[in-house]
Amino acid sequence: KEKNPSQPEFYQAVQEVAKSLIPLFEKSPHYMDYAILERMVEPDRFISFRVAWTDDDGKIHVNRGYRVQFNNAIGPYKGGLRFDPSVNESVVKFLGFDQIFKNALTGQAIGGGKGGADFDPKGKSDMEIMRFTQSFMNELSKYIGPNVDVPAGDIGVGGREIDYMVGQYKRLRGAFEKGAFTGKGIEVGGSLMRTESTGYGAVYFAEEMLKDEQDKLEGKRIIVSGAGKVSLYAMEKAVDLGAVVVACSDSSGYIYKEEGLDVKTIKQVKEQERKPLSAYLDHDQDATYNEEDRMWNLSCDLAFPCATQNELDEDDAKALVQNGAIAVIEGANMPCTEKAITYFQKHTIQFGPGKAANAGGVAVSALEMAQNSSRVYWSFEEIDNMLQEIMASIYKKSATAAKEFDLEGDFIAGANIAAFRKVADVMVAQGII
Ligand code: NDP
Repeated sequence: KEKNPSQPEFYQAVQEVAKSLIPLFEKSPHYMDYAILERMVEPDRFISFRVAWTDDDGKIHVNRGYRVQFNNAIGPYKGGLRFDPSVNESVVKFLGFDQIFKNALTGQAIGGGKGGADFDPKGKSDMEIMRFTQSFMNELSKYIGPNVDVPAGDIGVGGREIDYMVGQYKRLRGAFEKGAFTGKGIEVGGSLMRTESTGYGAVYFAEEMLKDEQDKLEGKRIIVSGAGKVSLYAMEKAVDLGAVVVACSDSSGYIYKEEGLDVKTIKQVKEQERKPLSAYLDHDQDATYNEEDRMWNLSCDLAFPCATQNELDEDDAKALVQNGAIAVIEGANMPCTEKAITYFQKHTIQFGPGKAANAGGVAVSALEMAQNSSRVYWSFEEIDNMLQEIMASIYKKSATAAKEFDLEGDFIAGANIAAFRKVADVMVAQGII
């Protein structure tokens, strides 16, 4: 904390990992002797830079851009870019640190990184987004590349923003290196299913968890926070598998319908109309919209927090347990506070941590890198099959590692131990200093 003052999200992420690694360090003290965790919490480098841009009225604005390159022991740095006013050094570092472990769990050769800017894309025109993104890339382009660091999207950054970045990067480099980004539009060299992958993956993870309890998603009532890239596709896949989405939220409120919301309509409102969720009621008058209450107070079988960090606290956890929830699966990064997780664990709620449950997005990003390198493209079904296999294997790795340390069912500990061991062993093999 002395070295990194005022970085609460970063401390939270590190603390969770450090706590889970105690049993591993007791069994294999050489990780402590080699100071592996101390090395992992110190990024290889942290870059912060000015991003100046002009709005449609010609007014100049200045934002701050970031990229943290945390660890490239097992492959090039890989992680998304977030455009949101809340982005700061602490947020970028917590995301980058967790990314090391998530990426290791996928079984693919990708290291951990993350970045973004404190820029608010809401209400900006296409041209403003383009000018901001180009200015952002003018600096970031110096530090990335297909074998160095491969950014993707995150909150506030989707296919449109990534494609602008690809264009600017190409101009600056004088070379067509589309492999420097993932999450590109299909025509620009993106992979089929990248858009769906994080949400679908979280649902596949949930199915694996339920399967272990001789249960399944079919017929379950679920609530999902967020109405963005992760949540929309988590809802789509859950409905596909027979679940009923009774509620979903965005940053202004939530919509609710006991018989089930129509996911196609939610997608139309958020992806095409780009409106707040309240506009869902223009299409379906049987649903209700609420800005006052917490969505987590509703009764459900499964909850998928898919919006942002620390969006579900201890009181929310209590309400979910009281109202009969049996499982919580994190589609977002660190959406549950530490106290909320402790509460779930005490009440034997099945808990799928983001690092494992939302790794499907970066896994398909790695498949996009593979397709870009080989110039051979796979079908939606082929990628979907690979994603299902990857999610099942992440589940298995987490469950097996937890069992090995007598922590059966603790997927946080299992995921952290399995991922740490993979990266740590490579760091040792590459030289202990
Ligand atoms: P998006 O920007 O596409 O969507 C975020 C959604 O969350 C928006 O609908 C936003 O509302 C809503 N939201 C923001 N704050 C709140 C809040 N407090 N309560 C309820 N809803 C809220 O982001 P993504 O879907 O890409 O990312 C969501 C999370 O998933 C992040 O934690 C991200 O790091 C993580 N993640 C994303 C991956 C990806 O592939 N995209 C991969 C792995 C993790 P509004 O529409 O009003 O803005």
